[in-house]
Amino acid sequence: MQIFTKKTELQDYLKKWFAGNTIGFVPTMGALHAGHLSLIEQSKKKCGVTVCSIFVNPIQFNDPADLAKYPRPIEHDIELLEKAGCDILYNPDVNDVYDGEPSIIQIDLGGLEKVFESKQRPGHFDGVVSVVKKLFDAVKPTDVFFGQKDYQQTLVVRKMIRYYNMPIKFYTCPILREADGLAMSSRNARLTAEEREQAINIYKALKEAALKQGLYTPTQVEEYMYTELQKNSFMEIEYASIVDPTDLKPIIDWQHSAVILVAVKVPSTRLIDNVLL
Ligand code: AMP
Repeated sequence: MQIFTKKTELQDYLKKWFAGNTIGFVPTMGALHAGHLSLIEQSKKKCGVTVCSIFVNPIQFNDPADLAKYPRPIEHDIELLEKAGCDILYNPDVNDVYDGEPSIIQIDLGGLEKVFESKQRPGHFDGVVSVVKKLFDAVKPTDVFFGQKDYQQTLVVRKMIRYYNMPIKFYTCPILREADGLAMSSRNARLTAEEREQAINIYKALKEAALKQGLYTPTQVEEYMYTELQKNSFMEIEYASIVDPTDLKPIIDWQHSAVILVAVKVPSTRLIDNVLL
């Protein structure tokens, strides 16, 4: 695997060796796990060359403690990427990504900037749009691979691609889970043993809610989820909602498809998960 910290060197390398190839891109913040590697695998299946980036973007963290605590095991990440057969790692610093200090790009997100993650983490998606735009400009991918785990982020990035008319194919890849159902996340490592126990109940509540589709109204199923999640003494529920998967607006019946979105604090760590119906 080739490793670059400068986008100009990455671009020269891609031009020299992979001209005319499809370029698959998997942006990450590192602390890689099997979920990230499944995106690499998808990219390798579909594209001529696969680029992964590891960059912890300071401007998408609204909580400085969360940024400070974010794990950065770069040597281990490189090992995992080598094993996964990733062709190129782009591992820049802030200066290379933003050509100086981070600058914020704001685009019309059509309401996505007001709900769920946006409400809980003000400014988060401006940070995401800013970094993803810069990373796409640096890597110039033909295909990009994002996880359903960050469901709202997939909608935001798709919107950004349309907004700038970028010739990029977007893939949403399924959520990888631990054997007990907990969605894999770089943040899971922070959970205490007791928190980890209770965290299992997030996916349990989601699955049980999914089974109630059609039997009860979406509002009743949301109430059921709240009740189930509230049984966990450590958990603070930020949201547990059933919404339209295209725009995250509320739904009143089951006539269309739906996504169930959950965010909780356990409390050392904030966890999100979702299920598409
Ligand atoms: P992150 O490093 O958290 O920014 O995540 C990088 C990419 O990996 C994003 O597109 C995430 O949605 C995706 N991802 C994170 N966790 C998982 C998972 N459990 N399964 C599949 N994809 C994931």
